[in-house]
Amino acid sequence: MKLSLNNTGDFSRWLNCADKKELCYAIRYFCEDADAEEQSALRLSANRLQQKYYGKRIYFRGLLEFSSCCKNNCYYCGLRKSNGSATRYRLTGKEILDCCQAGYLLGFRTFVLQSGEDRYFTDARLCCIVSAIKERFPDCAVTLSVGERSRESYQALFASGADRYLLRHETADEEHYGKLHPKELSLQNRKRCLYTLKDIGYQVGAGFMVDSPYQTYETLAEDFLFLRELEPHMIGIGPFIPHKDTRFAGFYHPSSQHTLILLSLIRIMLPKVLLPATTALSTVDPLGREKGLKAGANVVMPNLSPAAHRKDYAIYDNKVYTGEEAAEGLSCLSHQIVSAGFTPDFSRGDYIDLQKESRSK
Ligand code: SAH
Ligand code: SF4
Repeated sequence: MKLSLNNTGDFSRWLNCADKKELCYAIRYFCEDADAEEQSALRLSANRLQQKYYGKRIYFRGLLEFSSCCKNNCYYCGLRKSNGSATRYRLTGKEILDCCQAGYLLGFRTFVLQSGEDRYFTDARLCCIVSAIKERFPDCAVTLSVGERSRESYQALFASGADRYLLRHETADEEHYGKLHPKELSLQNRKRCLYTLKDIGYQVGAGFMVDSPYQTYETLAEDFLFLRELEPHMIGIGPFIPHKDTRFAGFYHPSSQHTLILLSLIRIMLPKVLLPATTALSTVDPLGREKGLKAGANVVMPNLSPAAHRKDYAIYDNKVYTGEEAAEGLSCLSHQIVSAGFTPDFSRGDYIDLQKESRSK
């Protein structure tokens, strides 16, 4: 098999009908065999497609990590319930609104509320927070990333005004899923949640960690097949980074290399998707964000959480939470993005087809 990047449209179509074996071959090829010239051609193709739909715009989202409490025990995560060394905190509704207010003044028009699966945040409490944000900032989008819940719960949160939901599927391979999670968590339920969210009307984000323990080119091919089937509006991928209090401590030294290649392949396969250059990418590579944007990513998510708590939202080791990753470093980040040839965009930044819909209303 010979992969050709001469025509991006052809490669995009090929990725959209390739079977698992072919996808596996393509991913392996770009991760292991492609020379510098081919890798650069891949990035250029991804970039061209990004610009076709989103121009040079890079969307800004304000990230609020509002609770580090979690009832789950995902084996890879520093916030898992059994980690007795984790510092737990929980913001009040008022603190969350104050952070949004500060973010609004900085220009943000999307707030991403993320937390562990914290039972304290019942539907009633979370709905109340979402509706208060929407009432005070009606021109803003609210994205939730609070894990697996029932259809009724997702429905109630949507009715309160939540617009988007991020729930990485983590891996679309059953066996791999079982190696990363305890038996009470299942890929089947994860997928059910994602389809339910889409059905309710959320803009939905799936995704996975890159180089996670036991990941193979086969499991990655399975991820691509699942993403193709789900057609999410957003895809979050970032390098797996070991956490010292997990069984994967010191598993291996994380790098940005594979994430950058996979960002480009995903952009080419699903050209309209919103694709963040994640904090994890910046954590493993000081130039990670810029490289990510040049590889096809078009979203950044600076941290709006209160500075005093940031270090305690420790899902992996050495997470960066200052400088350009933080709201305080916003002008620096904007400057970096301009220097890289892009345009910072503080609008809501909906999925492109939905932007057109709202403009034509
Ligand atoms: N509790 C929610 C949201 C917070 S965790 C949930 O699980 O969906 C957000 C994401 O962090 C997870 O989806 C996972 O992909 C990522 N993550 C967890 N541990 C990580 C690690 N060690 N390295 C990199 N990413 C990690
Ligand atoms: Fe909890 Fe999410 Fe971490 Fe799993 S990944 S332990 S659900 S915070």
